Amino acid sequence: MPKPPVRLTTRIHPTPTQDAHLRAIWTTLLTAQHTLTAWLHHRAGGGNHSLLAFASGTSPISADHPRPRTRALPTLDQLDDEVRAARDALGWTPTVPPSALRWMAAQTARQWHSCPHGTLPGPWPPAQPPELHLDHSVRVLDPVTLAISTLGADELIVADLYLPNPHWHALLRRQQRRAVHERNLRDALECSWLDAGDRDAAAEVLARRTRGGPWAELPWPELPEPCPGDPVSREETVLRWIDGDGLPARWVVEWRFGAGEVPGWVHDDVLGVDVGYHHPFACAAHGLNVLTPRPFRGPFAQPPLVRTSAAPHHEAWARAQHRRAMFLRLRPLLESHLDLALGYRAVVVERLDWGGFARRGFPFADYAQDVGLVSWLDWLNALSVQHGVTVLRMPPAYTSRTCCVCLRVGPRPQTGELFRCASCGQTSHPDLNAARVIRRQGWTALGWP
Ligand SMILES: [Zn+2]
Repeated sequence: MPKPPVRLTTRIHPTPTQDAHLRAIWTTLLTAQHTLTAWLHHRAGGGNHSLLAFASGTSPISADHPRPRTRALPTLDQLDDEVRAARDALGWTPTVPPSALRWMAAQTARQWHSCPHGTLPGPWPPAQPPELHLDHSVRVLDPVTLAISTLGADELIVADLYLPNPHWHALLRRQQRRAVHERNLRDALECSWLDAGDRDAAAEVLARRTRGGPWAELPWPELPEPCPGDPVSREETVLRWIDGDGLPARWVVEWRFGAGEVPGWVHDDVLGVDVGYHHPFACAAHGLNVLTPRPFRGPFAQPPLVRTSAAPHHEAWARAQHRRAMFLRLRPLLESHLDLALGYRAVVVERLDWGGFARRGFPFADYAQDVGLVSWLDWLNALSVQHGVTVLRMPPAYTSRTCCVCLRVGPRPQTGELFRCASCGQTSHPDLNAARVIRRQGWTALGWP
């Protein structure tokens, strides 16, 4: 059985102009989807106009009528052909890249084929969160900069590309392969132009350089040779708008990877993990109590910018590099704790109440995003499937006030103090106590004896 792709997401920081541009792509894509749906209703009702003729005309749209059984739905290939024939005339391109239109047609076809005899599917709701399948339109230029060709040459997006090292290398290898391919193409075109006087080749090489920009010429860093079983980056890159998970609403890029060969879990046990500020990780399992201190000192909040000249500043880019410095310092710990967690049959973490920290005046959500702890939770979720590891998210109520031995709830320990149970006398570091409580909660939730 082929394994499903691993999907890892990283936060991006579009400017207001870029945000408006991304939303405009989504709005146009929704318009296209609504037109396609109306045309499918037209076809289901016995109509025989092409998508282009239908959308350019004034054919009435009727919904919710039963589909005549005699009429077969167009196949996905036919839908693709119809969209391709209509997209320029209807103004969907160049706003929406072809990859996003293909995804929309495939999703729509799937909806229609999954309800063969019921009510016909309606158009996508306007409130559906944006999802842009941009695939190879997205390029990594440096560890904090993405180029999205749909947005135009000057609109580079600042990003926190926090990935585990094997996945980061897989992504860079793909970029490198593309850069080498592009360079070979340009070299061949230059030969045709300068050796054979080919005017078209001269025009083509100029157009390619215009699209690629100066970054296309930069040398890429040396990467280690891939090991057998390493993940492989796929050309399936998606921009998503994420809202409602407790963290501030944001754009993310979803990168997909072929899984490679991965070992399954080895410990038939539950690992409790407490993610924290002074100690990024406290882990508890049978015979394991590990408290890991932070490998750097503050301050963590972004400092004000001291402007030294009137020259234009790359402030957003610099701030992303600033965050990345903390992430790189933490990355070895993030990776070793990921390896540790993926060795257990089940891993239990708190479903952190990010908004609750902010209400108490503690910017833990910003901190956890900036240094990569939020990414670690995403890595764990994404990779646990490949390793056959169950991940449980327990509600966070009372974990810091519960004794891990007798489960009695007491007062929350003061900052810097040990957890002391007034009932049984158990004393331990509060984060380790929390990790043990989380582990016990998970054990119970799993129904283990
Ligand atoms: Zn106790």
